[in-house]
Amino acid sequence: MRIAILSRNSNLYSTRRLVEAARERGHEVDVLNPLSCYMNINARENSIHRHGKELPYYDCVIPRIGASVTFYGTAVLRQFEMMGTYPLNESVAISRSRDKLRSLQLLSRKGIGLPTTGFADQPQDIPDLIDMVGGAPLVIKLLEGTQGIGVVLAETAQAAESVIEAFMGMKSNIMVQEYIREAGGADIRCFVLGDKVVASMKRQAKEGEFRSNLHRGGSASLIKLTPAERQTAIKAAKTMGLNVAGVDILRSNHGPLVMEVNSSPGLEGIETASDKDIAGQIITFLEKNAKAHKTRTKGSRG
Ligand code: ADP
Repeated sequence: MRIAILSRNSNLYSTRRLVEAARERGHEVDVLNPLSCYMNINARENSIHRHGKELPYYDCVIPRIGASVTFYGTAVLRQFEMMGTYPLNESVAISRSRDKLRSLQLLSRKGIGLPTTGFADQPQDIPDLIDMVGGAPLVIKLLEGTQGIGVVLAETAQAAESVIEAFMGMKSNIMVQEYIREAGGADIRCFVLGDKVVASMKRQAKEGEFRSNLHRGGSASLIKLTPAERQTAIKAAKTMGLNVAGVDILRSNHGPLVMEVNSSPGLEGIETASDKDIAGQIITFLEKNAKAHKTRTKGSRG
């Protein structure tokens, strides 16, 4: 197969591993920066150009699109889809998962456990918003935050009110969430591929921190999932329409609660913790599933 990886940096661990795994299995692979791809959109035949030349046809494309380039990156991915290239994750599913609120709404519709979450626009609604999620302590999250940045634990209703007011004053979109204390500063990353959880790890926040992100000094270790956790992760990925997803779960005293479904889960932490060849499994998945025009985004020949 001829495989394209949409990634801005070919030195990143995940990108390098995917290139390696594809070549090991005899595939041709190119790493393309989505921002250097430009598109010809017309009614007859769509094309993608780069550095003054038209790109060849690719059998599949692996999107590794960073949050900061979601808009342009998903447009490029959609162009590949319209030309018949099979995407590991579809552009519509990636856009859906990047909208944190919309994701929670879709998951809740399927009955998937979530931390109770509130969202409001006006400062006068803050006291009721805090009550709605069960009062302090509570978690306040910037909608556009990643890697734990913009996630704040407010211990008292007073602290919560001031922080929410400050974010609202800055016109930042935030959500307010019930604090799952019994998770003990840990969460579980479930790596879903197709209809299976192929690896999982527990991330534990460092001392004095409630955010378990590895970027915030958290540490990863192996964990055995319960059947409920496994099923929840698979259902969450399916609800978002993602073939590959990193589903982040909190262990609460009323079962697994999904915090987030990540459409470009990193490989480094999970391959290291699980000692599994996840990149290889992704390429094997593509070998089994990649077929031309097998997406919901249809082009003129679709
Ligand atoms: P990001 O997407 O920026 O990583 P998250 O929503 O995943 O933000 O939050 C970062 C970390 O904070 C999580 O990995 C988890 O450890 C902790 N956390 C987030 N929400 C809650 C919550 N409602 N209750 C307890 N801990 C939470």
